Amino acid sequence: MAEVRTHKITLVPGDGIGPEVSAVMVAAVEAAGKKFGAAFEWHSFEAGADAHAKNGVLIPEELYKSIETNKVAIKGPTATPIGGGFSSINVAMRKKFDLYANVRPVKSLPGLETKYPGIDLVIFRENTEDLYAGLEVMVNPDIAQSLKIITRKGSTRIAEAAFEYAKNNGRKKVHSIHKANIMKMSDGLFIKCTKEVAEKNTEIAYFEHIVDNACMQLVMNPYQYDVILTENLYGDILSDLCSGLIGGLGLVPGANIGKDCAIFEAVHGSAPDIAGQDKANPTALLQSAVMMLHYLGENEAGTALQSAIEKVYAEGKTLTGDVGGNAGTKAFGEAVLAAL
Ligand code: NAD
Repeated sequence: MAEVRTHKITLVPGDGIGPEVSAVMVAAVEAAGKKFGAAFEWHSFEAGADAHAKNGVLIPEELYKSIETNKVAIKGPTATPIGGGFSSINVAMRKKFDLYANVRPVKSLPGLETKYPGIDLVIFRENTEDLYAGLEVMVNPDIAQSLKIITRKGSTRIAEAAFEYAKNNGRKKVHSIHKANIMKMSDGLFIKCTKEVAEKNTEIAYFEHIVDNACMQLVMNPYQYDVILTENLYGDILSDLCSGLIGGLGLVPGANIGKDCAIFEAVHGSAPDIAGQDKANPTALLQSAVMMLHYLGENEAGTALQSAIEKVYAEGKTLTGDVGGNAGTKAFGEAVLAAL
């Protein structure tokens, strides 16, 4: 009998809709793996707002240790209070494990009618610097200061990751998105670095767009973009904009990738407005799991899971409310399992 390959995965179900979409994801990954001789050992941890309220601990030390050992994690969304309270655990984990590349593929699903059919672009968002460094002070009660940190190292390595990806995946263009007309030093350094990397990779066409123009261009003609390379904050905003092009936040997956480990998670947040109601679309986390399967070298299982998701969309009978259907989270998950 062929040997089963077992992968140890750290799992954070997260807050809001997180546990609901995570349950669907775990079942689908197990089923896809089983078909091709892979098994999964899930090391699950409570972390985030609910864990903080329940146990007074935001990120348990064992979670850090588990990611250090397993090197691969997948997480549901975690909530972060607005305008005060604790800092984002996502930002903390990206910094802790130096997960510098946030890779977010935005691809239309078959059968889903949207204003822009046939979208296929990838966002490479720098994931450790920029205003997300969280270096803020109240200078006095009426002046708040937030430091924007951009480094040569951070800008160069995300540009190298974007160009490497473009070359290995048949992509033709990289657009570096910035606001260097205003932030001449910080964004100026970012585009200086991305241009230097472009000059070493001349087989890929290189363009620069100012971020406000890029927003307009994405709505007018998103097809001109192939790989979007950008800083942390612009990347976050552009990701949600691009999600809207293909049918919403329920669909777009993501990976936070560093030198030694990776954490996979959807673009969307904890969606408190629909949490606990069997309404969440698990597609974004399922497609994040597809990225994880490929990262683990389980390419057959990854391809099979992606095909099963696409089959459910092509049939169009069991879709969640956010994309015009009337199925629940669990029913959608069962349809994916049946398609597998
Ligand atoms: P959100 O992404 O949670 O929700 C925005 C809108 O999209 C809501 O209407 C929601 O119902 C919808 N939506 C999101 N995911 C969906 C899904 N899978 N299926 C169907 N509809 C979905 O953004 P928000 O409301 O601005 O943020 C809520 C919380 O999530 C905040 O605390 C924020 O800090 C957190 N957040 C976490 C992450 C993360 O963990 N990676 C990312 C973004 C936001």
